[in-house]
Amino acid sequence: MTPVEILQDLGRHVCRCGNLKREGNSFCRDCFARLPVEKKNGLFKRLGKGYEPAFEEALEYLGFGAQGALSKMQARDVLALTVFILLIAAVLGYLVWGSQVGGM
Ligand SMILES: [Zn+2]
Repeated sequence: MTPVEILQDLGRHVCRCGNLKREGNSFCRDCFARLPVEKKNGLFKRLGKGYEPAFEEALEYLGFGAQGALSKMQARDVLALTVFILLIAAVLGYLVWGSQVGGM
């Protein structure tokens, strides 16, 4: 994230999770409460003095980071692929069963 993006995020009234948050806060109360103490402390640092990396760590911890979003997407893809394979297997099984019955 660029410093501008981080500032824009601070200025929003909506948390990454969709809850309302106070302008100037990094996260809503629920997300903030989920953070371990050392990550909470990092968010009290000043901009340019350790806040940015602390914020990005907190984003990743909460699953809002770029990597978090990617792994969620991959999990969804794997699920879709599994459903697809099962569907193909079911159709093939039906066809094989159908041809056996037809041949008899
Ligand atoms: Zn939140």
